[in-house]
Amino acid sequence: MHYVSTRGAAPVLSFEQAMMTGLARDGGLYVPATVPQMTPEAIAALAGLRYEEVAFRVMRPFVGDTFDDAAFRALIDAAYAGFTHPARAPLVQLDANHFLLELFHGPTLAFKDFAMQLIGQMFQAALARSGARITIVGATSGDTGSAAIEAFRGLANVDVVILYPHGRVSEVQRRQMTTPVEDNVHALAVDGDFDDCQAALKDMFNDFAFRDRVRLAGVNSINWARVLAQVVYYFAAAVTLGAPQRRVSFTVPTGNFGDIYAGHIARAMGLPIDRLVIATNQNDILHRTLQTGRQEKKGVRASISPSMDIQVSSNFERALFDAYGRDGAVVAGQMEALRRDGAFDISQGAIDWLRAGFASGRASEEETSATIRAVQASTGELLCPHSAVGVHVAQAHLGAVPMVTLATAHPAKFPDAVEAATGIRPPLPSRMADLYSRSERVTRVPNDLAALQRVILERIRH
Ligand SMILES: *Cc1c(COP(=O)(O)O)cnc(C)c1O
Repeated sequence: MHYVSTRGAAPVLSFEQAMMTGLARDGGLYVPATVPQMTPEAIAALAGLRYEEVAFRVMRPFVGDTFDDAAFRALIDAAYAGFTHPARAPLVQLDANHFLLELFHGPTLAFKDFAMQLIGQMFQAALARSGARITIVGATSGDTGSAAIEAFRGLANVDVVILYPHGRVSEVQRRQMTTPVEDNVHALAVDGDFDDCQAALKDMFNDFAFRDRVRLAGVNSINWARVLAQVVYYFAAAVTLGAPQRRVSFTVPTGNFGDIYAGHIARAMGLPIDRLVIATNQNDILHRTLQTGRQEKKGVRASISPSMDIQVSSNFERALFDAYGRDGAVVAGQMEALRRDGAFDISQGAIDWLRAGFASGRASEEETSATIRAVQASTGELLCPHSAVGVHVAQAHLGAVPMVTLATAHPAKFPDAVEAATGIRPPLPSRMADLYSRSERVTRVPNDLAALQRVILERIRH
C-alpha cells in the first residue's frame, strides 16, 4: 500500500512513513495511491461484530506491512480500552429516520479521540522499533489538542506541543490542555485564530531545517492515519442500520473537512452511502464553496461551536485532488492561489464532481441554540453546539434513507452554550470532575513563526 501527495511532487511513502511524516514535503497531503475495496459480502459480515473487530477489518488493507495482524489488533484494542461505552460509537434515535452517532465517549469527550488514541498506539509501536524521538506539534481549535495530549502524555521519546488560539477555546477545552502535569506536554496560547495556528504549523513543516532538527511530526487531520481511523465508524453505523442492503446518509459537522472526508473514503471503499452532507456554522466557507464554485476566505467570527471556527479547510485539498482526476499540479496551483489571493475558482468539471458527492448547509448561532433546545425538549438528548449544527442541517435532508448525524463532542465540553439554550448545565463525567481545580500551565506566544519556533526549541527535551 502506497501513499501519494495531493501536489504530486513528494516521494511516494509507505503507511508508516506517511503517518510519521504528516505533511508532504511539497506542501501536499498524503492519500492512498488506490483505495482498497470491500465487497458487499465483506461489509455484510461486519454486522454484529465488536467495534474493534470492525476497525481491524476496515483499516487492515491500508496499513500494509507496517504492523502484522496480531500487533495491529492489539494496538486497536489498547486504543479503545479507555472509552466508557462498550459500543464505542453508539447510535441514538432522534426521530423516525434520524439517528445520532455519539462519538464522544473517549477520554477527552470529542470524536478526535477515535483517531488520536489509535495514532498514539501506532506512533509508540513505530518509535519503539526505530528508537527515534520526535516532536509532535499540533494546531487546535480546541479538541485536537486535548486528544493529542491525552494520547502522548508521559511518553519518553515524544514531546507534544499544542498551539491553540488564545481566548477562543472553551474553558473545559483549555483546561484539558493546560492541566496535564507531564513534562513532555507543552501548551502554547497563540495570539491569533485557529487559521493562524494551522498556518504556523504548515510553515514549520515547510521549514526543512527546523523540521529535521526537531524531528517534527504532525497529528492534525493532515495526517492520513487520523482520517483512516475515522473511516471505521461510518462502516459501524451503516452496518447497524442495514448496510449494505440498505443505503444510509450522513451529516457531518465539519470545518477542516477531515471527518467528512473519512466518510468519502468509506464510500469509495464500497460502503453504500447515499448522501454526505457538510454542516458548517456561521464560518461557512465549505458551504459557500459548494454553492458558488469559488473558495473564498472571509474573516473568522467566533461562534458557540468553536471547533469549527475555521476558514482554511486543510482536508478539502484531498477532495479537490480527486475532483481534478488526481492532477497534483492543478491542486498545487489552486492552493497557491488561496495562499496568495485568499480565493480560487474551481473548474466546472471539478465542482460537478464535488456536488455529486456532497450536499451542504449552514446553521446560524440562533439556529444552533434553537436546535439544542428543541432536541432536548423532544428527546431528552443534550447536544453539544457542533452536533446541533449537524442536526439542524440534517433536518433539511431527511427522507426515505436513514440519516445519521455525527455527534462530535459531549455537551459538558461546552456547558455555557448548552445551558444558555436549555437551562441545563451538563456536568462533566466524574473521572474529570476535578478539572476546574487543577492548576494550569501555558505559555502565551505572539502569532509569529520565529517566536513560536524559539519557544518550541527551548521547551522540548533534546
Ligand atoms: C474537530 C471538531 C469538528 C470538526 O472536525 P473536522 O475535522 O473539521 O471535520 C467538529 N466538532 C467538534 C466537536 C470537533 O472537535
